[in-house]
Amino acid sequence: MTKPQPSHSSIAPPPELLDALSSARKPLIIAHLSPDGDAIGSLTALGYLLYRMGKDPILACQDKAPPAFNFLPFYDRILQDTQGIQPDLVISVDSSDPTRMGSVYDEARFGDLPLIVIDHHITNVYFGDLNWVEPMCCATDEMIYYLTRALQEPLDETLATALLTGIVTDTRGFRTYNVTPAVMHITGELIDAGAPLSIITERVLDNRSLALITLWARALDTVELDQGVISAINTLAMRRDLGGVIRAEGLVSFLLSAQEAKIAAVFTEMPAGKVECSFRARRGYDVSHIALSLGGGGHPPAAGCTVEGEIHTVRSQVVAMLKQALQPES
Ligand code: 5GP
Ligand code: MN
Repeated sequence: MTKPQPSHSSIAPPPELLDALSSARKPLIIAHLSPDGDAIGSLTALGYLLYRMGKDPILACQDKAPPAFNFLPFYDRILQDTQGIQPDLVISVDSSDPTRMGSVYDEARFGDLPLIVIDHHITNVYFGDLNWVEPMCCATDEMIYYLTRALQEPLDETLATALLTGIVTDTRGFRTYNVTPAVMHITGELIDAGAPLSIITERVLDNRSLALITLWARALDTVELDQGVISAINTLAMRRDLGGVIRAEGLVSFLLSAQEAKIAAVFTEMPAGKVECSFRARRGYDVSHIALSLGGGGHPPAAGCTVEGEIHTVRSQVVAMLKQALQPES
């Protein structure tokens, strides 16, 4: 085990958060629905850290964590149903609003317990009793690293692997503007502690099923460029024969690689007339406020929301809104 080193960053959790964690015995930790590598990475890193500190953590996420993450600690213990459990503290990780916690947060049963929010989304609505929100952090897992350091807990291979998983996922392999010298410094420490960077990268970024690639192919057939906004749709009919694949994971970032594009969007048709929207923007453009205005959230370069409507109508209405975001931020 290695001690976390002082890094280029002075970010630290509020002291009350450390007190609340220290006095908890059975904390319930909740990651957001449709979990990504930072949701599962921060859920399992925090769960493992608290377990190592002698607590009895319960890990929960409404939607099943993709099997690509099965190398993370406690992967098999993540609950999709929290009926019957009796925590003494609730901690939400990587969620910007309470709806993101989904069905595993039962207001009637957990509403009286203290709720801690740990998140890095600029659109966070501060829904906890104690909110630690760091929009400058590249991942919630970067925050869990600072928490580990503040608790003076050592890193080990298991913890370092979970922490690096969120950082690699949310920075898409160290490509985003929020990869600071501190993030690289921390990454070096995590590798030193045993986190296998190339294996994590392969697992979380270069790991697609043939069905997913087939869905990309079908969705790519619908690509349109409208001024600087590139978009595609993913319909129920397109994926009927694809064995349960839903999201065209990764496609929206791929679309943004088009030289002509400043903003990219993928619209996913869901049952009951709902459409999931996924947005990406190049440096200097901001899609988070459009997602927020549509009831979702995210970061300036990556955001999303779910709206009601017919998929083609939603596409044209939302693309019109995205075109207004083409004025670069001053
Ligand atoms: P993705 O396009 O990968 O699904 O999401 C991109 C970013 O937007 C992520 O940071 C994610 O947390 C956020 N996001 C996506 N959909 C929603 C949503 O419906 N509500 C909120 N609050 N955030 C979302
Ligand atoms: Mn995140």
